Amino acid sequence: MTSTNKEIEIAAQLIRDGKVVAFPTETVYGLGANALNAMAVARIYELKERPSFDPLIVHIADIEAIRQLTTTSDERVQLLADRFWPGPLTIILPKSEIVPDIVTSGLGTVGIRMPANPVARELIRRAGCPIAAPSANKFGQLSPTLARHVAKQLPDADFILDGGPADVGIESTIIALNKKGFEILRHGVITREDIETLVPYYALPEEEKTNIVSPGMLKSHYSPGKPLYILGTSVPPPADRSRVGLLSFKGHDTAGYAHVEILSEKGDLKACAVNLFAAIHRLEDSEVEYIVAQPVPEEGVGLAVMDKLRKAAYRYL
Ligand code: AMP
Ligand code: MG
Repeated sequence: MTSTNKEIEIAAQLIRDGKVVAFPTETVYGLGANALNAMAVARIYELKERPSFDPLIVHIADIEAIRQLTTTSDERVQLLADRFWPGPLTIILPKSEIVPDIVTSGLGTVGIRMPANPVARELIRRAGCPIAAPSANKFGQLSPTLARHVAKQLPDADFILDGGPADVGIESTIIALNKKGFEILRHGVITREDIETLVPYYALPEEEKTNIVSPGMLKSHYSPGKPLYILGTSVPPPADRSRVGLLSFKGHDTAGYAHVEILSEKGDLKACAVNLFAAIHRLEDSEVEYIVAQPVPEEGVGLAVMDKLRKAAYRYL
């Protein structure tokens, strides 16, 4: 189902009133508030139980907003925006004074993205302000790709705008620009190779890195409510599969498991990304005791998929 005009208007009014609204984006559902209203943003942290050291991404509907929110005059930003926006790429830029510290966790930079989902952009336009939004889940837990997933974890959100399933399914790629090129802070469906067609890749040497504390980089994240293990790394396939759920890459060796989710029978890595969180949600909701996941090849979008799986498995290692 996709949101009606009326629902978008209700959500926009709530954002204008300083409330917190869950809304669809093409990556995952976001939990949004007026990015320029520190009190409204504080409520996002409260609802998510998110630690205050974890900065939020600011969503815009119009490239002009970059001038309001950042002090950048970097020409590469326009180049990247022309190619990848609207879409699942977040760019970290020096922030302007109007961006409250709570949005950036006190960092001098702000992450900005223009979402591809038309409902999200219409909401931002009608609200008349940029919208700060992390994923609409409790901190550290599974990301939501359906409105129902949001309702499960965040029943206290002021409103949930239902826009149907998220069609990218994993969070945006996050990049930072330095003098010589770009660095990836979080992998997503837009890959290093895609971006390298416009800007060279250049990872700053360790000693020049600014100290970014960002859960995009935490070891444990995206954790389902049941233990998840990656096959072949810490565990072999279980002998008794009757109480085990399988997250399968292409549908090989599925016999005997209590619940099987196949990411992509064709082995298409983008399809794996799209299906990943929804499949883990179904495994979490099933009767199984724990989940085992078959690894996917670590190339292209597979890098992002394995990154999420490792974080989901980390606390069970
Ligand atoms: P979420 O929207 O929940 O996926 O989280 C947003 C993520 O974006 C954070 O966890 C950080 O990893 C990253 N992020 C946002 N703003 C910044 C920033 N200014 N510098 C570095 N990373 C950022
Ligand atoms: Mg998140």
